This record gives sequence, C-alpha cells and structure tokens, in this order.
Amino acid sequence: MNIQEADSRYIAGTYARFPVVITGGKGSLVTDENGKQYIDMGTGIAVNTFGVGDEEWIAAVTAQLNAVQHTSNLYYSKPDVQLAQMLCERTGMQKVFFSNSGAEANECAIKTARKYAADKKGSEVYTILTLENSFHGRTITTLAATGQEVFHKDFTPLTPGFHSVPANDIAALTCAVQKFQPAAILFECVQGEGGVLPLEPAFVSAMAELAAQHDILLVVDEVQTGNGRTGTLYSYMQYGIKPDIVTTAKGLGGGLPIGATLFGEKTADVLGKGMHGSTFGGNPVCAAGAVNILSRINDDLLAGVQAKSNDIRRALTGAKGVKNISGLGLMLGIETEKPVAEVLERCRENGVLAISAKNKVRLLPALNIPDDLLQKAVAVIKQACE
Ligand SMILES: *Cc1c(COP(=O)(O)O)cnc(C)c1O
Repeated sequence: MNIQEADSRYIAGTYARFPVVITGGKGSLVTDENGKQYIDMGTGIAVNTFGVGDEEWIAAVTAQLNAVQHTSNLYYSKPDVQLAQMLCERTGMQKVFFSNSGAEANECAIKTARKYAADKKGSEVYTILTLENSFHGRTITTLAATGQEVFHKDFTPLTPGFHSVPANDIAALTCAVQKFQPAAILFECVQGEGGVLPLEPAFVSAMAELAAQHDILLVVDEVQTGNGRTGTLYSYMQYGIKPDIVTTAKGLGGGLPIGATLFGEKTADVLGKGMHGSTFGGNPVCAAGAVNILSRINDDLLAGVQAKSNDIRRALTGAKGVKNISGLGLMLGIETEKPVAEVLERCRENGVLAISAKNKVRLLPALNIPDDLLQKAVAVIKQACE
C-alpha cells in the first residue's frame, strides 16, 4: 500500500485531500515524496507563518524542547507568560487564556461571554449573535456559532443560544439585537472559509456601536485573519474597533498547535479559578515558537505583507479568466471563470500549491515569501485561470 492507499484504509474519511504527499521543504518551497518542488501559497491553511523549516523558529522551539516539553498548568511556565505579555502589550488587551486550536479559543470566548452576561444581567441573557456564512470551528458549540447550514446537517441538536444575521445588513443586525438581547456578537472581519469576504467598515462600526450601547461583548474571531495575515497584527485594527474578546490560533504557533483567547477590560477577570482549563493549553514548546513568530511580526514585515498583497492584486486584476479578487493583505480570494478545482489542479501540475474557499482560489502564502517566488507563483496561477 502506498501512503494514499494506507490513508484511505486507516484514517477517518473526513478530509478530501489533494493528491500530494508533502515530505519536506524550506521557506515557501515544499517537496513531495517524488522530489517535486512546489511554491506553497497555502501554508497549511495560514499556519506556517514564515514557511517551512524556518531556522529562527526551529531554534526557539528546539531550545524549549531540550529544556522541558510540557509542565501542565499546575505550575508556572515562562514561555506562556512571555507570550501573553507580548499579546497584551501589542493589542491593549488585558489577559490571555491559552488552548490548542481555533475552535477551543472560540469555546473559551463563548463561555466567557455567557458568564459575563450571567453575572451582569442574569442567566436568561445568553444569546450570541453571529453572521451568516461565518466559520468558527467544528465542535458542537462552535458549529452552532458557524452560520452555514451545510456544516450543521445531521449533527443537530447543536448547542442552543446562537442566532446568525446576514453580514453587512445593519437593519437585520439592529432588529436581532432588539429581539434577542444578546450577550455577545461574534464575527470574523474577513470571512475566511466563507469565501475570503471582508466585512464592510460601516457594518463593523454598527456592531461596535450597538455593542457599546447595550453592553454586548464584541468578540472578534482572528483565528485565520490574525498574526499579521491581513497586513496588521490583527484584522480588527483596520476597522478602528476595540473588541472585548479576540480569539486567535492558526498562524500564531508558526506550525505548532496553539490557540489564544484575549480578554479586554470588561472580560479580563470574568473567568476565575476552576472555571476553564486545558491540559495542553500554553504548552511551553508551542508558546516558545509563538513568541518567536510574534516578535518578528513588526512594522517592516507588515509593510511587506501589504506590498506583496498589492503585487498579487496588480498582476491578477483584469487577467483572463479572473472575475474578481477579494480579501486583505496575504489572505486573498480569486473568483475564477473556470471551476476552482480545475484551476488548483493546473497550479499543482505547474508547481504551485493553492487552496480553495467556497468557489474561490484562496491564497495564504508565508508572510515572508520572497518576491521572486511570489512572482513565479502568480504567473502560474494566472496561466491556470486562462
Ligand atoms: C480555522 C478556523 C477556526 C477553527 O480553527 P481550528 O484550529 O481548526 O479549530 C475558527 N475560526 C476561523 C475563522 C477559522 O478560520
């Protein structure tokens, strides 16, 4: 049996995989089992922030691995304190809870929102408003938060207390706030899985205003958009809002699993001892890697993200077979005339790995992808769209 056959035999069939076995790589180049090289425009779904085999990150992770690989949350540990302090200082948030994934970061946000509302307004206030076409994770509760029926089918009943409204519809939002008296509004500034769709600034401002008026918590899911991906450290920073809770994961660890839930002034002390926890949360190896990643997401790098984004847009706007380009920074969606699967296949044949989001080609390259590789990849994508 080869790897692909053994995978179908022994691994649960939840993933539709591309026919590539990735065995190694360096930076923005990855290699398959036959030695074929690809330019990686997907980074493991926005996870490998600085590509594959990044030496600084490996050094940080290895040093911690050689010191101690796990301590449990029964003891203090330096890397997670360092990481939490960095996250707070760079966002103005006050405290952090660490977990292992985006779904768990959102679960923590949801528990915190319910507790905040229960303490302040009574336990009958618990509804969380989310947006249609959103994605917040695969657990039964984060599925309830996810405003896409396709993910709910056959898994009902989901956790009650969620209601989704159409994105960018201020009237519907205002109505839902009156009707449900929600505890929180949870949203992505750029809907990633939903098709790389940035929210309209006026709608985000309306959510922030309603939240402030009614003491509703503003919870931003930065699992995919976060950690420099959109050209600012977190995407909410481009919308001029001050969230009460920010969740992040994917790119934070640079390739190792870590999730973080950041609390603002209102929420910093909502969760007390014994109210939440995670055995692996704040694992020192993952945290040491994340400290390295975060320390390198500086103004220079972010300017580079914007410049590379502009280069991609310039090269593909108006190209044959390209209908439109959406997104922010290095989180871009390309709507193509050809079916997306066909475009991705042609890209793979010609040495470029890209992924999809709904009917779009989704690009999530490393934040430090060298310009020559980026140009090559864009040329391949352009040709594949024709
Ligand atoms: C990927 C993603 C999640 C889920 O993260 P996992 O680590 O897979 O649990 C949640 N929210 C958004 C916006 C995501 O893109």
